[in-house]
Amino acid sequence: MNKKTIKFWEKEAEKLEWKKKWTRSFSGTMTKPHWFLGGKINASYLCLDKNDPEKLALIYENELGKTIELTYGELLSQVNYWAAKLTKLNVKKGDVVILYLPLIPEAVAIMLACARIGAIHAVIFAGLGYESIAERIQETGAKLVITTEYTLRRGKQIPLESVVEKAVKTLNNKVKVVSIKRNEKIPKAKNIPPVFVESNHPLFVLYTSGTTKKPKGVVHSTGGYLTQVYSTFERTFAEAAKLGTYWCTADIGWITGHSYLVYGPLMHGSTVLIYEGAPDYPDAGQLWRLIEKHKVSAFYTAPTLIRMVKSLGEKFIKKYDLSSLKILGSVGEVLNEPTRKWYSRVIGHNKCPIIDTWWQTETGGFMIASDKKSNGRKKPMEGISAKISKDGELVIVDPWPGKFIRIWGTTLKAGSIYQTGDAAKIDKNGFVYILGRTDDTISSAGHRISPIELESIVLENDRVMEAAAVGQKDEIKGEKIVLFVVMKKGAKKEGLAEEISLGLRQKFGAIGTPAAVNFVTELPKTRSGKIIRRALKK
Ligand code: AMP
Repeated sequence: MNKKTIKFWEKEAEKLEWKKKWTRSFSGTMTKPHWFLGGKINASYLCLDKNDPEKLALIYENELGKTIELTYGELLSQVNYWAAKLTKLNVKKGDVVILYLPLIPEAVAIMLACARIGAIHAVIFAGLGYESIAERIQETGAKLVITTEYTLRRGKQIPLESVVEKAVKTLNNKVKVVSIKRNEKIPKAKNIPPVFVESNHPLFVLYTSGTTKKPKGVVHSTGGYLTQVYSTFERTFAEAAKLGTYWCTADIGWITGHSYLVYGPLMHGSTVLIYEGAPDYPDAGQLWRLIEKHKVSAFYTAPTLIRMVKSLGEKFIKKYDLSSLKILGSVGEVLNEPTRKWYSRVIGHNKCPIIDTWWQTETGGFMIASDKKSNGRKKPMEGISAKISKDGELVIVDPWPGKFIRIWGTTLKAGSIYQTGDAAKIDKNGFVYILGRTDDTISSAGHRISPIELESIVLENDRVMEAAAVGQKDEIKGEKIVLFVVMKKGAKKEGLAEEISLGLRQKFGAIGTPAAVNFVTELPKTRSGKIIRRALKK
């Protein structure tokens, strides 16, 4: 590995407090990385004990308007309470604890409580079915599942505990289920000393959204992971987050919820807003109401949500004062130009930089991101060596600290380069453009067509809310282009298919002309909001 890269990451790691300093910064390989050997560290210590106990750590609000505020001191006390409870339940260093919880303060506290005693948390999206829960219990060998009675969604209580009970019934394993009460008054707890673990001790296992094939349990280290998350948050949102409240709309069941809702902002002492409920409930102004009320200065969300609010019109937004916003972020899918421009103008008042962040569950933290001046265009961040392979795939050449250390229950083939599975191109200025998953690339008449490029053009149409392009087998061309389009509410369908086809022919060229345009009411998506083109293809 490049000496400069190593030096850079050493400097970043030194920003964290290590109980014992590492003896070697890197050893191993891309497949089996080991960063900061011998270093002793604890995630909950860095997120809590290090911060001003008087400062607000979490502001929770749900769709019924209930709010709970916790200072860093109060959150630490809660974490100590749960850490003691876990210990009482016989959870030890290295044990896996499954969390099937909504986005409530207790979820954050229990993640940190696991980290405090060296246990490995495995958060499952609250809402995933019982079979998936059972599979994950079986695969991780977890002895304990923590859940609660329900979560809120559009004024309804969605049961959670009963789903876990059902999962457990299908198993022979002995697994304990603890259902916690929401908002229980937690007594002030005495300090549980953090267990400082070796840098490569797993902090968590997280099953990927399944954008690609069967979900796999991605295991992250403690020291390397925290270094990358601390460093990348510092280089993007930390400064703006200090000016108000930081809000990342991801669920904790997603990697974004781990890295940039819990670990990144808390290590930086930010005040983090967490919201339980639907973004458009009780009405379409909900997000903007929350931004105004809590003086959100850094807002980090996903294109799927931006497209949704964009389609609802601006009148719900104009009612609220969004002047506290200083920076906007995006993650999860390509932020197509029409969507980015709207986001910048309507939400950011043409004043907020837009930080688009490309990364994956496997990468642990941001890899390719915009800076404050690049208008959403993005480059590999310092410390990351990204290239495009001969086949047009984005690959990472050198190991980086946030890279996952293994997949639960499998041994990976050794390899020196990390293949991302995304197609991309780099322009002469070094900006990277993500073209979608390599599996989704359309091969038509000898051309490799990116669905993203076609969709970006379709999204320029005022009547369109969402679009997906996929290839379908064709005797002559290999594949032909088939479009799926969701119209905006109240838009007229007449002539739209022709208009879309014409737009593609003019802007992309004849090879971009779709063989069919299907109008649908919604697109299949993962739980983190990514369009599943594979399903449409089928
Ligand atoms: P996940 O691990 O579930 O977060 O999914 C990672 C995948 O999401 C990446 O491989 C990309 O296909 C996609 N992705 C994430 N962030 C971006 C982004 N900023 N632009 C384009 N695609 C993205």
